[in-house]
Amino acid sequence: MTIEAHRYLAPPGLLAGRNVLVTGAGDGIGRAAALSFAAHGASVILLGRSQQKLEAVYDEITASGAPEPIIQILDLGSATEEHYQTLAGQIEEQLGCLHGLLHNAALLGPRKPLDQYPLKEWREVMTVNVEAGFMLTRALIPALRAAAQASVIFTSSGVGRKGKAFWGAYAVSKFATEGLCQVFADELGSTSAIRVNCINPGATNTSMRRAAYPAEVPTRNPPPAGIMAAYLFLMGDDSREVNGLSLDAQSG
Ligand code: NDP
Repeated sequence: MTIEAHRYLAPPGLLAGRNVLVTGAGDGIGRAAALSFAAHGASVILLGRSQQKLEAVYDEITASGAPEPIIQILDLGSATEEHYQTLAGQIEEQLGCLHGLLHNAALLGPRKPLDQYPLKEWREVMTVNVEAGFMLTRALIPALRAAAQASVIFTSSGVGRKGKAFWGAYAVSKFATEGLCQVFADELGSTSAIRVNCINPGATNTSMRRAAYPAEVPTRNPPPAGIMAAYLFLMGDDSREVNGLSLDAQSG
């Protein structure tokens, strides 16, 4: 199935009354997604490890008149099962249910050949990019089930579909993310109203992209705010029938 999600035109109130959690909401694509979801009516749970960055996003959302967000500080590199259960319990108690979950936070890790790749960094990348997505989704399934419709979005990458030299644990973690998404989608698709898909943002002007391509002219790539159509498509009801797919946020 070909879905041109990057061409989607979201109606203004697309996410009115929805509770949506975004990981890595303090910077880059996660920040843009949080602002965009809030602008379309969602109450956004801003999850990240930097209080200062999350507060800046919180201030921007409240100043815009969008629904007041919630700040949730959590370092996905060191979070335990207890942290995830506590978070899930708070969401169920305060909000009743969760309509959307965007797994966006990730670490790039070192750009090295695998035979020189340090184990410590390998584990850090796999923990943040894969294990956190598994643990957080698992903990939040009851809150997602409590919603009439729910959407879970994992973030992939071009190197999560075709392995490339020197992308190390990052590339492997994105292949694992695609797999995690497919397994959750198959398990939940037939037993719940939860759909699970992947999104590949494509080259986007963020600090991660600038770190990965230091010689590139940053403005060659769109800013995060310029790739939100596909995020809105997958988060809103117009993707209700879409499950287990990996979509692109940019053409080509
Ligand atoms: P950024 O580095 O700009 O943002 C990553 C976000 O993840 C930051 O908010 C960061 O927090 C957060 N994060 C990292 N580690 C942790 C942690 N341990 N706990 C909590 N939060 C954490 O990257 P992008 O915005 O570019 O990337 C967003 C997603 O898009 C990622 O999954 C990335 O792999 C993917 N992607 C990006 C592409 C691009 O061209 N930009 C292309 C393909 C995929 P903090 O600010 O505190 O560091």
